[in-house]
Amino acid sequence: MWPDAARWRALGQVFAQTVEEAGYTQVIPPMFENIEVFKRLGDATDVVSKEMYDFEDKGGRHMALRPEQTASIVRAFVEHRPLIPWKAWYSGPNFRYERAQKGRYRQFDQVGIEALGPEDPHLDVEVIALAWRFYQRLGLSQITLMLNSLGSGDDRERFIEALQAHFAAHQNELSEASRTTLAVNPLRVLDSKREQDQAIIDSAPKMLDFLSPEAAEHFEKVQQGLDALDIPYTLNPRLVRGLDYYVRTTFEFISDAFDAAQNAVGGGGRYDGLAESLGGPATPGVGFALGVDRTLLACDAEETFPGPTNVVDLFVIDTTGGQAALALTAALHEEGHRADRSWDNRSMKAQMKAADRSGAQIALIIGEEEAASDTVTVRDLRGQSGQTTVPRTQVNETLRKMMR
Ligand code: AMP
Repeated sequence: MWPDAARWRALGQVFAQTVEEAGYTQVIPPMFENIEVFKRLGDATDVVSKEMYDFEDKGGRHMALRPEQTASIVRAFVEHRPLIPWKAWYSGPNFRYERAQKGRYRQFDQVGIEALGPEDPHLDVEVIALAWRFYQRLGLSQITLMLNSLGSGDDRERFIEALQAHFAAHQNELSEASRTTLAVNPLRVLDSKREQDQAIIDSAPKMLDFLSPEAAEHFEKVQQGLDALDIPYTLNPRLVRGLDYYVRTTFEFISDAFDAAQNAVGGGGRYDGLAESLGGPATPGVGFALGVDRTLLACDAEETFPGPTNVVDLFVIDTTGGQAALALTAALHEEGHRADRSWDNRSMKAQMKAADRSGAQIALIIGEEEAASDTVTVRDLRGQSGQTTVPRTQVNETLRKMMR
């Protein structure tokens, strides 16, 4: 509801402007797809294995509400084959069957971008820099960028083997949930926030020690690019991210203003194998998804980006029967002003009260005298400009001066 809805939309506008400045174009993916599209994200991820809202449609197809949008964007890329580099942005709700709590909802909004084609590490930098700029434009200053590299496919295999050996050796000390995860994907054990697992995770092998020379060089260039743009980051070798398709650069944005467990406001990385696994040509990709709900919680915590404070700027008051208000309000709308009026022929006092409540800065008053002389009294309700009665034809000019 307003004002939250208006603030939510304003956030979307800041995002759209930020990424469109860099040439990203909007894609509106469908709300649900064949479940196979999302299964490509990896069966070992919670998002796919436990959290999808799936159903059979009347034609017997197995469908799912989208838990995220990258898979749909890449599916659209594979289907329509736009020229590369292809830069797309999206915004909208996702659905995950999760235990709802502050900052974690079953329907939540994300805004995001995907850039397909180049492997250039500077594209990773651009992607990260756009998220950073977006947060800055919202006025958020307590955001930490966590950065890691997951290496290329082979590096990851070698790392996973080493992890497997390490965790298997400490199997009995791990939590039961992590033992189950270990059987499916040892990488995901690093994601565990459970106290019992922390010491074993801390002593686990580090991905950065397994990078091939090419992956290490790519990662080095990403860091140099971020340094060149003065974007601070923290290397976090334990950052693995929830979805399986990430390779090389991976990152997450954490709000430090937040004491809740859900302090990740966004994340992303490279997913060079996804297009191919969806039936397209092998095409590298990099992108991010930012959680709108949590970003707004971070704005609350930092007392920034308050959103709009009023619905209209102008309020028309007419004590002569309402015909004058009808014409004047319509004319104001025609001029592009945000204007409202009162209804049901209320008293002057009641109309003034309505004007005040509307949050309007200026009241335009038409009483008997104004009606007789084709004038309007323009009254500043909030500032120092007082009031003045002007011919109907000069209303616009008077408003322009007063609203400067
Ligand atoms: P993910 O798609 O899991 O990488 O999540 C990217 C971002 O979306 C996270 O950093 C959160 O800000 C947000 N997010 C993910 N899941 C939820 C949820 N259930 N409720 C609210 N926000 C979420």
